[in-house]
Amino acid sequence: MKGALLREISRCSFCGFCEAACPTRFMIKRNYTPRGRINTIIFALKNRLTTIESVNGIFSCLECGACKPYCPAGIDIPRVIREFRHLVRVEEVGVLTQEVK
Ligand code: SF4
Ligand code: SF4
Repeated sequence: MKGALLREISRCSFCGFCEAACPTRFMIKRNYTPRGRINTIIFALKNRLTTIESVNGIFSCLECGACKPYCPAGIDIPRVIREFRHLVRVEEVGVLTQEVK
């Protein structure tokens, strides 16, 4: 699952076309947009680790699907987010709950 997911999101060019459609983009933080979420997921899958702030960005997705038609790479962004949430829940990806200094 992780390999297939990573292959799919590796097609992301970070063009940002998905950004304007996302209702959570007004939450300001970079991770709270589709592009930010994809970026977070790429990093987390490669390192098998993410941060609590990044996880908050992922779990704030409404799964509304508004971003999906705008992706020229054909990435099914809400499904990717849903699958990543599952990986976090089953602890396939670890979550740092404290800042590392
Ligand atoms: S539209 Fe697709 S390729 Fe562009 S930033 Fe969003 S997820 Fe990545
Ligand atoms: S599915 Fe998630 S990332 Fe996509 S537009 Fe909706 S809230 Fe934003």
